[in-house]
Amino acid sequence: MDLRWSAEDDAFRHEARSWLEAHVPHGLPSGDTREGFVAHLEWERALFAARWSAVSWPERFGGRDASLWQWLIFEEEYYRAGAPQRITQNGIFLLAPTIFEFGTPEQQERLLPRMAAAQDLWAQGWSEPGAGSDLAAVSSRAVRDDERGGWLLSGQKTWTTRGAFCTHLFGLFRTDLEAQRHHGLTYFLVPLDAPGVTVRGFERLDGDEGFAEVFLDEVFVPDRDVLGGVNEGWRVAMATTGSERGLTLRSPGRFLRSAERLVQLAKERDEPALRDRVVQSWIDAQAYQWFTLRQVTSIVDGRAVGAESSLNKLFWSELDVRLHETAMDLLGEEAQLDGPWSRGFLFSLAGPIYAGTNEVQRNVVAERLLGLPRR
Ligand SMILES: Cc1cc2nc3c(=O)[nH]c(=O)nc-3n(C[C@H](O)[C@H](O)[C@H](O)COP(=O)(O)OP(=O)(O)OC[C@H]3O[C@@H](n4cnc5c(N)ncnc54)[C@H](O)[C@@H]3O)c2cc1C
Repeated sequence: MDLRWSAEDDAFRHEARSWLEAHVPHGLPSGDTREGFVAHLEWERALFAARWSAVSWPERFGGRDASLWQWLIFEEEYYRAGAPQRITQNGIFLLAPTIFEFGTPEQQERLLPRMAAAQDLWAQGWSEPGAGSDLAAVSSRAVRDDERGGWLLSGQKTWTTRGAFCTHLFGLFRTDLEAQRHHGLTYFLVPLDAPGVTVRGFERLDGDEGFAEVFLDEVFVPDRDVLGGVNEGWRVAMATTGSERGLTLRSPGRFLRSAERLVQLAKERDEPALRDRVVQSWIDAQAYQWFTLRQVTSIVDGRAVGAESSLNKLFWSELDVRLHETAMDLLGEEAQLDGPWSRGFLFSLAGPIYAGTNEVQRNVVAERLLGLPRR
């Protein structure tokens, strides 16, 4: 692993930093509210216009053909500049890698440019009232409609992040009721304005209307919106969850930035009893970066990340909680007031739950990485 940046990488960093310094909007309302979502959309479109919305994609889809290393550099600069959360992340960071791997050329041409331009906004439709950790228990189903050349989708999805504001949803539906759990599923792409879809937003712990329930009643979806083959949904979905747990959803830039902010807070508050925890958070953020650099090296060398993404997930989610808890302790009574740290703290508590709970990630590590027997 050669950790020296090339002249080209340095130039890329410089260009990204200068652009972000000149354009990043500050003080946007939360993107998990309707009003905030609209403001974030404007930012997403500005990113796209300058070709920063999906830097690692091929140019013909709206990207810059940047390397994985440069993507990491961009993420670092993005967080360093204090830029807004990406409301397009479910599409650009989760669905898109799956479309690159499993989509037909027609799907890639049709879907990716609109995603990069924030014209289509994607929500993730995995969870159902009876299927969370046990995703293969999905009971929403798709029934064949030969006449129209497609499928009729029925069922209910829940915990859909920003589902009330998005235009499309990707999710798993049962297409073969006789097959074993993992074998009868298909990955569908669903427009949320299709007849038969009802979307109901609801509030999160922090009061933002960031979640939605999505009800589907015989929603017609044509064959061209099956991603990766009928009854192949489990295999395709595993690629998406790998992206969610691993690199693409949580690049180290975010935690490096939070650790720097924590150090700054510790300098202002000077609380000797908390010094060790501040230092440990900073060290952990660096460690996560080194771990990621090693992973990128192995991806660039042609190795798949697979179950190792569960290690990333455990690490970043626990680091985020510790880091925010330390900030709350530094703030003392002030931590009760609404502000970036208290909001970040509330959100960090969700990290060990979404993208697959940490208990389940520990099972994956035990069984698939360490080869321990199933209990
Ligand atoms: C902020 C946030 C955003 C989310 N966004 C989305 C989204 O956009 N789209 C979407 O589809 N979903 C989303 N989710 C839902 C999330 O994926 C689920 O909450 C998660 O998969 C857990 O499922 P569950 O809530 O049904 O809990 P359950 O699966 O019922 O789990 C309950 C508890 O039992 C434990 N448990 C379950 N099975 C095992 C096991 N085999 N071994 C050990 N322990 C186990 C779990 O770890 C957990 O502690 C989001 C959740 C949060 C918090």
